[in-house]
Amino acid sequence: MRRVAVLGATGSIGGSTLDVIARHPEQFRASVLTANHRVEALVELCVRHRPDLAVVADPAHERELARRLADAGVHCEVASGPAALVAAASGELCDTVVAAIVGAAGLESTLAAAHAGKRLLLANKESIVMAGPLLLQAMARGGGALIPVDSEHNALFQCLPGGRPELARSGVRRLILTASGGPFRGRSRAELAHVTPDQACKHPNWVMGRKISVDSATLMNKGLEVIEAHHLFGAPIEAIDVVVHPQSLIHSMVEYVDGSVLAQLGNPDMRTAIAHALAWPERVESGVSPLDLAACAPLQFEAPDLATFRCLALAFQALRAGGDAPAVLSAANEVAVEAFLAGTLAFLSIADVVEAVLAELPAQAVVDIPTLLERDRAAREAARRVLRRAC
Ligand code: NAD
Ligand code: MG
Repeated sequence: MRRVAVLGATGSIGGSTLDVIARHPEQFRASVLTANHRVEALVELCVRHRPDLAVVADPAHERELARRLADAGVHCEVASGPAALVAAASGELCDTVVAAIVGAAGLESTLAAAHAGKRLLLANKESIVMAGPLLLQAMARGGGALIPVDSEHNALFQCLPGGRPELARSGVRRLILTASGGPFRGRSRAELAHVTPDQACKHPNWVMGRKISVDSATLMNKGLEVIEAHHLFGAPIEAIDVVVHPQSLIHSMVEYVDGSVLAQLGNPDMRTAIAHALAWPERVESGVSPLDLAACAPLQFEAPDLATFRCLALAFQALRAGGDAPAVLSAANEVAVEAFLAGTLAFLSIADVVEAVLAELPAQAVVDIPTLLERDRAAREAARRVLRRAC
């Protein structure tokens, strides 16, 4: 029986994870559930899954959570605040952690799970983008397994022998990340000048949280994923390619030196990657309908439009710059996306904000977590300054 902590249980990945867990009560149990501040949604999940511990990140909501759980007849521990998230991720109540908090807010709990040797199912890509080498070090020290949940990386993991091999020795030539192209694929810059948050969040193939939906629309999501792949698989930047594949049926591919290309296919439903990661190296049923290839539209592929979707080019630039540039990129992007979602920043200006912050804070070596968090704060402040100038 695996006891699973679902960090970010009220989110899109959290919901899909709990759906898979509920299908296999003899194999998995959701022993820890966490949310940011949506107490009502968290209580509902606790009623259904009966965890040992419920954590709300915002301490202002702890009493309300305890009261509502008691009213609902759920007897579990209750805690709140960032330290409680860290304790939950590293404590005795779980052996597996699904890191599904969005943004840099997920960094410390993800690292704590890694240090504690938990089996880490990583959805929170921002944490590996920010702190790649430190996270991998923590995993190595803790001795747990790291299994990617991001569909592209989960696909690569499935197409690589042993998941994370020495790429060169395995005869790998290239990792090919597929991108749907998002809701604005094929549009010109002029056509993107006035797009709204709701249009940006209407992804053609996936239903996701709003931050990652905007990232998919700008292609920053693919940029973050290139950096994620670089760290997860030890792949040099020249060995990572992006191809746009609008149907989102091929989730990514590995090209070998003999010309073989292995792909992982499936319907665009995160429960496949989640079920794979939960059960690995076994397989379990996920609830995803079988892929009907004959009924699929022809599969298309095209090169990404880096001139229109500048965020992808900026992510490559940050990865090339090295050090903490990816952390600066990701922090500036979080601030810009929030402003776009709040209606105070134009869609195309997200890239301008990120570019300005990267220029203001040249890459420094990543030393440790406190320095990294300090840079995260500096990048956010710089982004807010740029926003004030722009608005
Ligand atoms: P979401 O917005 O639907 O859910 C985010 C979760 O994080 C919620 O449970 C929320 O309560 C919690 N949270 C938010 N801010 C927090 C904070 N400050 N402290 C503690 N908890 C906080 O997001 P999502 O779409 O589920 O994405 C989660 C992560 O998974 C992101 O990093 C995203 O990039 C990654 N991911 C998502 C998908 C997808 O299909 N949704 C696919 C691949 C990767
Ligand atoms: Mg992805």
